[in-house]
Amino acid sequence: MADMTKDDATGGLSIRGLRKNYGNFSAVDGIDLEVESGRFYALLGPSGCGKTTTLRMVAGLEDPDQGEIRIGDVDVSKLRPYQRPVNTVFQSYALFPHMSIYENVAFGLRRKKEDNIDRRVKEMLELVDMGHLAQRKPTQLSGGQQQRVAVVRALVNRPKILLLDEPLGALDLKLRRQMQLELKRIQLEVGITFIHVTHDQEEAMTMADTIAVLNKGKIEQLGAPVDLYENPSTAFVAGFLGQSNLLNAVVTERQGDVIVLNVDGVRVCMPASRAHATGNAMSVGVRPEKIQLAEMGMAPVGHNVIDGEIVDASFIGVSTQYLVRTATNDEMTVFSQNTATFPRQVGMKVCMHWDPAHTFGLAAGAHEI
Ligand code: ATP
Repeated sequence: MADMTKDDATGGLSIRGLRKNYGNFSAVDGIDLEVESGRFYALLGPSGCGKTTTLRMVAGLEDPDQGEIRIGDVDVSKLRPYQRPVNTVFQSYALFPHMSIYENVAFGLRRKKEDNIDRRVKEMLELVDMGHLAQRKPTQLSGGQQQRVAVVRALVNRPKILLLDEPLGALDLKLRRQMQLELKRIQLEVGITFIHVTHDQEEAMTMADTIAVLNKGKIEQLGAPVDLYENPSTAFVAGFLGQSNLLNAVVTERQGDVIVLNVDGVRVCMPASRAHATGNAMSVGVRPEKIQLAEMGMAPVGHNVIDGEIVDASFIGVSTQYLVRTATNDEMTVFSQNTATFPRQVGMKVCMHWDPAHTFGLAAGAHEI
């Protein structure tokens, strides 16, 4: 087992068949993940889904029961944490309280007797615009400033991969949003692979090039934020990345690139993304902001149309949220920014309509959120 040098691998990460049990409980239940070098990845999922355990196994802080972890061309599965070309930033900044900011960042470099320490520390502090605060102690900084120091301290020895375990969890919402943009900028500037663990879908979507959505120790779906949002493949992903209306449907026929479905007697169309056998039951979904409201009979030709009655209207700032009850007593949610076309009141009969392109199909058996 040898230490990896900085040049013998790229920051690509390959995880195969990763498993970790605690007693009978499967915290990580067979994860396969290919991470492209130099990109920003998020591991997103609810509390307890195995995000942190996965990250800790990559860092070498937890031993897998099964599976392989490769960084670049090197199998790091058996290497000690300090032998792996990764660093981790935790929610608790873990800065040394008695040292200045400068010394905190220089610490690892001094210990390894590296070259150009002064230049490298100053470069890092400039990266987060904190050069002028170099002589302060951590307690003399705000939470956001401390987190910036924690990030550059983890970057200064040029790891191939930076692992971030809910690093913004302790910050208030406004600062959190600022730091999300800042982390994204830092990642672009340094070009190091970032793998960021969060349970906050907005945070993952703001920062990551690719999101792996985890549920019960498994990756449920992997993709770019827009693809996951527009085309979630399971009800869990659809529900975790925003609100959606899920409808039970039966496949009626295929017409070229379009699948025609029967939703409680209503014809609904969606793009044909994979083979669908006629007569098969499936779940389909549509996001609330993709649906428009119109007076009965006034929906554009070619749109999916479901009639209903407005049972609630709530102004929620950027839009108004309508709950519309259908003939079969299901409630659908509609977000609408356009209130000018016709008055909409609770009790009104309306039609909901949307472009078939915005209908997504869910994997069979995945209706439960
Ligand atoms: P959170 O967002 O709450 O941190 P997570 O997705 O990061 O959640 P993990 O910390 O990876 O989840 O934990 C996954 C599951 O494994 C949880 O149910 C947790 O209770 C369990 N677990 C984690 N570490 C241990 C341990 N050392 N001993 C026993 N169970 C553990």
